[in-house]
Amino acid sequence: ALLRDGFHPDSPGGTVELRGDGTPVLDYQVSPYAWDGLRRAFHSMAEIQFAGGAKSVMPLHGDARYVNTLAEARSMIDGLNLELHRTRLGSAHVMGGCAMGEEPKSAVADSLGRHHQLRNLSIHDGSLFPTSIGANPQLSVYGLTAQLATALAERLKTA
Ligand SMILES: Cc1cc2nc3c(=O)[nH]c(=O)nc-3n(C[C@H](O)[C@H](O)[C@H](O)COP(=O)(O)OP(=O)(O)OC[C@H]3O[C@@H](n4cnc5c(N)ncnc54)[C@H](O)[C@@H]3O)c2cc1C
Repeated sequence: ALLRDGFHPDSPGGTVELRGDGTPVLDYQVSPYAWDGLRRAFHSMAEIQFAGGAKSVMPLHGDARYVNTLAEARSMIDGLNLELHRTRLGSAHVMGGCAMGEEPKSAVADSLGRHHQLRNLSIHDGSLFPTSIGANPQLSVYGLTAQLATALAERLKTA
């Protein structure tokens, strides 16, 4: 299941800071609100999978096992201890690392993807979004990149 966070006051998401040597420190706390969403996601996935014809299902949790009915799945999922390292979480759809905007103090690149500080560097990818958009981004990345790359090619013709 894909669970969106960072868009609700009870689920603020994480932070990235830089150490003195420039290496990143990631801090991601899973809030009770997000844990509740994860449990509901386990329930929804089991329901969908049995409805789709699965003979057995197993949530991605260290203490889970295969079960053969939705009733067993519901009771197992309700009993799972949801905590870090037992519940298997991954991250995808990271965006916004080089957010675009005309103001160099708050943006890395301008609205044509040109880096504010480094001349002759253009960025054309999902990092230009203001933040993770909370939805499948591929078509938006393609659309933005097609437009920016075409504009860059035009500029290079006259450079
Ligand atoms: C598991 C997973 C499932 C996903 N499923 C979907 C989905 O179903 N639908 C959807 O819309 N989106 C999906 N996404 C998200 C989508 O794939 C990404 O958001 C999108 O590909 C981002 O595009 P991008 O061009 O910004 O970056 P990327 O596609 O990551 O492209 C960055 C490129 O830069 C290259 N690169 C990195 N460093 C260097 C370097 N130093 N020099 C040269 N090249 C370098 C990399 O090799 C890579 O090719 C999924 C993502 C993941 C991880």
